[in-house]
Amino acid sequence: MEIAELLEKAATYLPSEKLALVEEAHKFALEAHKDQVRQSGEPYLQHPLEAASILTDLRLDVTSLAAALLHDVSEDCHVTQEQISESFGPEVAKLVDGVTKLEYVSSQVSERPDGVDLQSESMRKMLVAMAEDLRVVFIKLADRLHNMRTLDALPPAKRRAIAKETMEVYAPLAHRLGIVKIRSQLEDLAFLHLDPVKFRHTRHLLDKQQLEYEKLINLVSNKLGVELEKAKLKTTISGRAKSIFSLYRKMLKYNAEGKDLGDIHDIIAIRVITEHEEDCYHVLGTVHSLWHPLSGEFNDYIATPKRNGYRSLHTTIICNGTPIEVQIRTQEMHYSSEYGVAAHWRYKEGVKQDPFEQRISGLRQLLEWHEEISGTREFLDSVRTDILRDQVFVYTPKGEIRDLPAGSTVLDFAYNIHTDLGHRCIGAKVNGKLVPLVYRLRNGDTVSIMTTKAERGPSRDWLNPNLGYVNTSRARTRIQQWFRKQAKSENIEKGKEVFEKEARRLGLSLTNREEIAALFGYSDLDDFYAAIGYGEISASQIVTRLATREEQPKVTGPVPAKPATPLSIKVLGTGDLLTQLAHCCKPLPGDEIIGYITRSRGVTVHRTDCPNIARVQQKERLVSVDWGRVDHLYPVTVRIDAWDRVGLLRDISSTVAEEGVNINLVRSEQNSDSSSCVVLTLLVRSISQLSRLLYKLEAINGVTNVMRGDTG
Ligand code: MN
Repeated sequence: MEIAELLEKAATYLPSEKLALVEEAHKFALEAHKDQVRQSGEPYLQHPLEAASILTDLRLDVTSLAAALLHDVSEDCHVTQEQISESFGPEVAKLVDGVTKLEYVSSQVSERPDGVDLQSESMRKMLVAMAEDLRVVFIKLADRLHNMRTLDALPPAKRRAIAKETMEVYAPLAHRLGIVKIRSQLEDLAFLHLDPVKFRHTRHLLDKQQLEYEKLINLVSNKLGVELEKAKLKTTISGRAKSIFSLYRKMLKYNAEGKDLGDIHDIIAIRVITEHEEDCYHVLGTVHSLWHPLSGEFNDYIATPKRNGYRSLHTTIICNGTPIEVQIRTQEMHYSSEYGVAAHWRYKEGVKQDPFEQRISGLRQLLEWHEEISGTREFLDSVRTDILRDQVFVYTPKGEIRDLPAGSTVLDFAYNIHTDLGHRCIGAKVNGKLVPLVYRLRNGDTVSIMTTKAERGPSRDWLNPNLGYVNTSRARTRIQQWFRKQAKSENIEKGKEVFEKEARRLGLSLTNREEIAALFGYSDLDDFYAAIGYGEISASQIVTRLATREEQPKVTGPVPAKPATPLSIKVLGTGDLLTQLAHCCKPLPGDEIIGYITRSRGVTVHRTDCPNIARVQQKERLVSVDWGRVDHLYPVTVRIDAWDRVGLLRDISSTVAEEGVNINLVRSEQNSDSSSCVVLTLLVRSISQLSRLLYKLEAINGVTNVMRGDTG
């Protein structure tokens, strides 16, 4: 195969100005593979050229053709995805990358000893890549088809493994995608290598009848052609005998039912392609007027399409004692029956496609395909969620696939495998590289969990949603169960500690603890602490609950048409008084607050635990105030103790920025022991936002303590 030949084929359906990309890709591949030969001895480039040529039969777009030409360069020639992206754009690079990932799956399969079941496992792996872009699958199928055509060059054991995988994974896949042409070629080639004796026997059966079949095909075609011409119907008539493997499969089925070759009615099929849908029924009438139809063999797949979308009229007639299947369909129906989903890309060059639609249509078909092949209910569910809510597919070190909700971390993965693996997890590697436990899994990642042999349990931090260790309910439940099993007194103590620490760091005065416990449905304070202790209630939940409680006005009174205060604080019992936040204690929404009626400036709002409030002599000046629904920024001081290092301030400010919080003021002091203290004034929305931010700041390398700094 030469590039000129490929371009010629592509030019039959693609505008010539688009073909430059294909030519460029060819040049690039030529250079990359220049020193390589295939096992068959021919120049390596033949392989991508042939693969691309197969894709032109499917009429795929230029992007797919370019990617097909480049599909082996990253694997074999160490060309990076970036390089491909630079030269050919990100779309081509993504397709090549997708095929490379599938290549890895295949290489594992061919290393597998005989007899190891690969079917469902491999199929699932395929799904991982498919979810991204179905064109990756088409390229892979073309790649596989050409490899099957040149399989003779490989050692026998490898040949068998690849043929088996082709038969069990790729041919059914092509079938589900409706790519009939590729499917039957894959099957016949795989059949040849898996069972050469039966292959030859079946081919012999077909060969023997070949002449007779051809005669019959000609006879029926000619007679029908004449009649249809008389009826002024524009049609194309063609005939074919069954493919070798599909005949064999049908024979097996018929043998089991006690029938023989003569009972197979579609060894020969005549196909009539019409212009319009209504013509199909017209043609059907003509066929039935010429030959006697076999009763019970008529199917109207136009009125009722098959599940994979196949549409056509099928009838079986008897001609010279031999049954012949006649299929009648329009050009459009024919195209999608031959090329299935690939037809979606036809003529769509330059037309922006909705990627979601593509994905759905692809997955819908895959679903049906999966149902048909393996029928595993549990897996189907996860694919369905994939459509509704993204799932992530990752590999265990043994190559098994696991699916988790998108956003799962390596720790979630550990708990997904085994509870004990989660409890003992101390680290993880993704694709061979060490990652933090909060690493979020990506499709195709290979994850291995590192554990400690020592008996140990999970960390309480893992339950803190602000830290992002686990995002699945399974992991969270398992961790909570572990803590629940600990002695109650220990949980109470721990819970109390967590509760008080949180209160301290946020500078909250929690005088009414019973009330807070009641908010969570606990009448007993110890039970409440225990629940915090084993992680059923997280510290940040307490904060959020308090904040939302505080943000909702307790008393609903007439709301002033115009907010009386620029800060939207509702002052209970004082009417439209001017209010302002006290500078001494800088209260935040969520803080318990109290108002102080000044002589000239209206009401100043303080935290209830502000020392200035404690000093107030004229108690009648104090009024109760409440937070209105606020959407304001409040200044708050945060004190960070850390070991001084280069980049510390930068890390702090970027963490603050990530949370979407503005820094108003920074002050930093160096201590003599090379520790330092950074004081920030931040503008935050609420106490829950502050809580989240404090955790993030605490996680910065070198930071030893983070506290809210306004002490009045
Ligand atoms: Mn290849």
